[in-house]
Amino acid sequence: MQFQNLNLIEPILRSLNEEKYITPTPVQSQAIPLVLAGKDLLACAQTGTGKTAAFSIPILQLLHSKPLEGKKKIRSLVLTPTRELAIQIGESFNAYGRHLRLSSTVIFGGVNQHAQVAALNKGIDVLIATPGRLLDLISQGHVQLKDIEIFVLDEADRMLDMGFIHDVKKLLAILPKQRQSLFFSATMAPEIIQLAQTILKNPSKVTVTPVSSTAEMIQQYVYFVDKGNKNALLVDILNNQEIKTALVFTRTKHGADKVVKMLLKHRITAEAIHGNKAQNARQRALNNFKSQTTRVLVATDIAARGIDVDELEYVINYEMPNVAETYVHRIGRTGRAGAKGTAYSFCDATEKPYLADIEKLISKKIQVVDKHAYPLMDHHASKPVKQAQAPRSQRPQSKHHQGGKKFGKRNRNSGQHQKTVTFGA
Ligand code: AMP
Repeated sequence: MQFQNLNLIEPILRSLNEEKYITPTPVQSQAIPLVLAGKDLLACAQTGTGKTAAFSIPILQLLHSKPLEGKKKIRSLVLTPTRELAIQIGESFNAYGRHLRLSSTVIFGGVNQHAQVAALNKGIDVLIATPGRLLDLISQGHVQLKDIEIFVLDEADRMLDMGFIHDVKKLLAILPKQRQSLFFSATMAPEIIQLAQTILKNPSKVTVTPVSSTAEMIQQYVYFVDKGNKNALLVDILNNQEIKTALVFTRTKHGADKVVKMLLKHRITAEAIHGNKAQNARQRALNNFKSQTTRVLVATDIAARGIDVDELEYVINYEMPNVAETYVHRIGRTGRAGAKGTAYSFCDATEKPYLADIEKLISKKIQVVDKHAYPLMDHHASKPVKQAQAPRSQRPQSKHHQGGKKFGKRNRNSGQHQKTVTFGA
C-alpha cells in the first residue's frame, strides 16, 4: 500500500513526499478512505502510530474539495488534551497542507491569548485547541463553532484522565448536530466507549497495535543498579557519543531538575520539561532538543505526552514507572513509525515489582545488561549500598570515570572484569 493508492490529491501527495513518508501506517491506510467517504470514525490508536496524519490528511482534502466563497470560517475543530499535542497537530496540518490554500491555528492555555485571538481574527479553516482555552475564547466571543463540519476528539482517554470531561461535554453541546466526527483513543475502557456513543453516529471502527504490543518494535534493556549509582550509570551510558539525543524519564519534577543539574556538571547539555516550567520555557526546551542543541531532555510523564521528535532513538527510564502502561507510553516516544528505537531502564531493588508488572503487560522479558560498572549490590534497598572490594585486577575500569570520584559508589565486587556496556550503538 502506498499513499498514491489512497485517492489523495496531488498537493497532499507532494507534501507527503517532501516529508519523506513513503508508506501509510496501518491507522492511516484504514482511516483515510473512511474519513474521505464522510464516515464517523472510532479509532483505537496511540501516539506514535501515525494517527495525527490519519485524521489531518483527509480533513485537509475534504475542506479543499469544498472551497468557500468570502471570509474563512472554522470548518474543522480538533480537540486535544495538552498544549504539546496541540502544537504537534498544528505542525502536521501545516506540513501536509503546505500546498493548499487552507489555514489553521492552535490555541491552548497558559500563555497570553493575544496572538491566538489575532490568528483567529484573520480567518482560519481548522482550529486545534485544548478544551479550557477554547471555552474561554468562545465565552469572550472570539470563536464560533457553528460552521464546524468535521470534529476530532483526540486522545479521548487522556482527556478523561486529565479531568476534561465536563469541558468536552460543554463543547459537544455547542457543536452543530450535523457534522462528521472522528474519535481517537489509545484505550477503549467502558467509559470511553460511552463517551464515543454520545459523539459518533454509526461509526466505522479502526484498531491498530494495542498499547502492550507496540513495545515489541523497540530494543529494550534493563540495568539492575542501586539508586545511588543511577547518576553514574546515566553518565556512563551518555558517554557513548553515538547517542546523539536521549529522552530521560524521572517520576518527579524535582527528580528531573536534579538529573539535569548532575548532567550539566558532567558537561552533558540537558534541560528539564515538566509542569512547573512556564509554557514558553517548555517549548524552548523542546525546540532545543529537536534541533539537537540540547542533547538530553529530562521529562516527567505528564509533560512528555505529545513530545514528538522525529528520529528520537533513545529513551532512558531513570526510574521505573509504577504503572506498567506508562512504560509503554514512555518507550513509545522512540521507534516512531517503524524507525529504530532503544529503551534503557534503570531498576533498583525497590522497583523490581514494577519491572515484573511491565513484563507481564508486554508479555516478554526485558533483556538484562548484566555486565556494567554499577551492578546492584543492595538487593533489599533498605541498607546503604555496601562497597565490597574485589582484587585490583578485577575492578571495573570505565574509561570515562576513572575513580568515579563524583559518585563514590562504584560497585566493585562483580567477580569479573567489568567494562561499561552500552547497547544500541
Ligand atoms: P503520531 O502517531 O501522529 O504522533 O505520529 C508519529 C510520528 O510518525 C510523527 O513523527 C510523524 O511525523 C511520523 N509519521 C506519521 N506517518 C508517517 C508515515 N506514513 N511515514 C513515516 N512517518 C510517519
